[in-house]
Amino acid sequence: MTRRDELAAGLAETRERIARACGQADRDPDEVTLIVITKTYPATDVALLAELGVTDVGENRHPEAGRKLAELADLGVTDPPRMHFVGGLQSNKAGAVSRYADVIHSVDRSRLVDGLSRGAIAAGRTLGCLVQVDFDTTDPGRAGAVPADVDEVAAQVAAAEGLRLDGVMTVAPLGADPAPVFAQLVQMSQRLRSAHPEATVVSAGMSGDLEDAVKAGATHVRVGRSVLGERGSTR
Ligand SMILES: *Cc1c(COP(=O)(O)O)cnc(C)c1O
Repeated sequence: MTRRDELAAGLAETRERIARACGQADRDPDEVTLIVITKTYPATDVALLAELGVTDVGENRHPEAGRKLAELADLGVTDPPRMHFVGGLQSNKAGAVSRYADVIHSVDRSRLVDGLSRGAIAAGRTLGCLVQVDFDTTDPGRAGAVPADVDEVAAQVAAAEGLRLDGVMTVAPLGADPAPVFAQLVQMSQRLRSAHPEATVVSAGMSGDLEDAVKAGATHVRVGRSVLGERGSTR
């Protein structure tokens, strides 16, 4: 079996999981965008995924994400997938990431908004932004804005030059039932859209919980292992 065959099989299986969950939730599978999270995997895998019709990929680290896009160009991929940045971002890296990312899923504080905006303006680009929300009150160390701060961060993004408020994102807390968390995110999205109708993206669900996310109403799932296989032990 070639790597291309492996990836094609992983993709088919993942798309089938999404379609089955959509069927159970009375949703159209076209409403759900699959973002394949390619962190730790080589650019050659991303090139194969693009060949297999993947339109959206995600990475969680700078500069790995930017380097992989440059490698894709070297591999002759002229129309690369959209790049979603899904990882924690230091304020001093925001400008660099805004040069190559299309959507940032991890906007969770004001300082990041300023840096991303400046970077996007400098690069002459418009950057999609999702406000990352953390519903886990038991662990203050987790990435994400607390729910009470979401409106303020969203308003800052919406007002910032070079940035577009696309919606909200969350990562379900480890070891807890993800369904209620995804339901809260969808509720928050509905509320946010009354002030920002354009913010329609609900990014939720990974390999272990994509069904729960689709059933709750996610518009974007972020899936790594289910497509690419288990990552090495480093992450
Ligand atoms: C790695 C990662 C994913 C994908 O996780 P899998 O378990 O490999 O599907 C999704 N979202 C974020 C933020 C990630 O860092």
